[in-house]
Amino acid sequence: MASSPPQYNVTGIDYAERDHFRHDGPIIDFHAHVMRTRPGDPPTGPPVGSGPGASLAQAEIMLDVGADFGVMQTLTMCPADDIAPLRERFGELLAFNAMINKKTADESDGEAYRNLERFLEQGIHCVKLWSAPRGRERGLFIDAPWRIEAVKRARSAGVRLVMVHVADPDAWFRTVYADAAKFGTKAEQYVGLEKMMQLFPDLVWIGAHMAGDAEHPDHLQALLEEYPQFYIDTSATKWQVREVSPRADAHRALLTKYPERFLFGTDLVTRHHLTREHYVSRYWCQRTLWESAWVGASPIADADYHGETPTPTLRGVNLPDEVTALVYYRNAKRLLNLPIV
Ligand SMILES: [Zn+2]
Repeated sequence: MASSPPQYNVTGIDYAERDHFRHDGPIIDFHAHVMRTRPGDPPTGPPVGSGPGASLAQAEIMLDVGADFGVMQTLTMCPADDIAPLRERFGELLAFNAMINKKTADESDGEAYRNLERFLEQGIHCVKLWSAPRGRERGLFIDAPWRIEAVKRARSAGVRLVMVHVADPDAWFRTVYADAAKFGTKAEQYVGLEKMMQLFPDLVWIGAHMAGDAEHPDHLQALLEEYPQFYIDTSATKWQVREVSPRADAHRALLTKYPERFLFGTDLVTRHHLTREHYVSRYWCQRTLWESAWVGASPIADADYHGETPTPTLRGVNLPDEVTALVYYRNAKRLLNLPIV
């Protein structure tokens, strides 16, 4: 009986086939969501974060798979309550990145500061400002006054790293974000980011998901040139496979020009019912995309791709080995070891 292939392997690829990998050193995953999971979590959306049945089983599977791909440390975003159990179980394998957020538009600034305080008490390396266009109705502007204040408080506590999610794929601005009066144009998403980098030039700013603009390596280059404290992570695997591959030469030139400013990331999320091969697929595609010259059909289903073939073509960027070593490990190591000020 025919059944549809799983989203993590639509082409039936053998993920044990890794002869094209060239990097043999350690890797740090700078962007992931390793959390406790619960049987009552929704299959896709964010976890409920409380209630019975909290489990570290998915975190164990994910980090075990990661180790098989060379990942020896992961910077994770998780609820403040998850830090202690994760740290007890995984120790130095994890470092923590705290979301500065509001769950609803009418949540008070004080609630956001109290949440930050709980993170700071436990020791974190980074704070995250999630500012996708779909967060605007909840007031999640990157330069909202309560976020400026929260970043000041984090800085006073010694935090040097700020990760930001700005923008989203170009494809979404033609569809879900077509209402520019409500969501803003793609270019408008970067105004607040630049304002924040000017307000806090002493902090390191990390643009998640190729800074939201893998479609325009020239724009990424302009940001890197203008802001010496700006870094970019490679996470969001489907998006990068789809949009970096057709511009592989431009991205190789960009990463080779700024090899110290990029950080390997997956954006993997632990979810209660995921199978091991889901995690395998993302590590495999990230490594294949950046360090190799592999070319073929992407093994991962991608609802944002509308081409002739079932999945986009994954075309390896084929970074020089010394650039790969910086992007995969040394840059992250340097940032995570920044002295507390
Ligand atoms: Zn993420």
